[in-house]
Amino acid sequence: MEPIYTGGCACGVVRFEMVQDPIDMSNCHCRDCQRATGGPYFPSVICKVSDFNLLQGTPSWFEKMSDGRERVGRSFCPDCGSPLMFVNAVKDDIYAIYASAFDDPSFFKPSIDIYTASAQPWDHISPDAKCYARSSRE
Ligand SMILES: [Zn+2]
Ligand SMILES: [Zn+2]
Repeated sequence: MEPIYTGGCACGVVRFEMVQDPIDMSNCHCRDCQRATGGPYFPSVICKVSDFNLLQGTPSWFEKMSDGRERVGRSFCPDCGSPLMFVNAVKDDIYAIYASAFDDPSFFKPSIDIYTASAQPWDHISPDAKCYARSSRE
């Protein structure tokens, strides 16, 4: 039996499933992720696009250049605005899914925290976290 993780937006128009365990999980504390989530960081569940199925609805996409100078896209429900997935044009076979979009996000366990240089003073980063001031690739 393959693991199946289901999720969707707050209003229920968009529904999706992830059919394998995530490749990785991380928290991004960059300013764009703060704005996109409304919170101190983006808890991201990383999976292959091929392990992701849209079951219902059509997410809208917003694109911009990241501060790492890469074109990134963020998707959200066109009706309620809930954030859904993030994609980097350089690695477009990978989705980072907003953890709280899952029906049961309790499986979320971040392995690294990135862009902690822009973490807010009211953010709480675990003392055990593996932190990168910017991207983990730098
Ligand atoms: Zn919605
Ligand atoms: Zn970020």
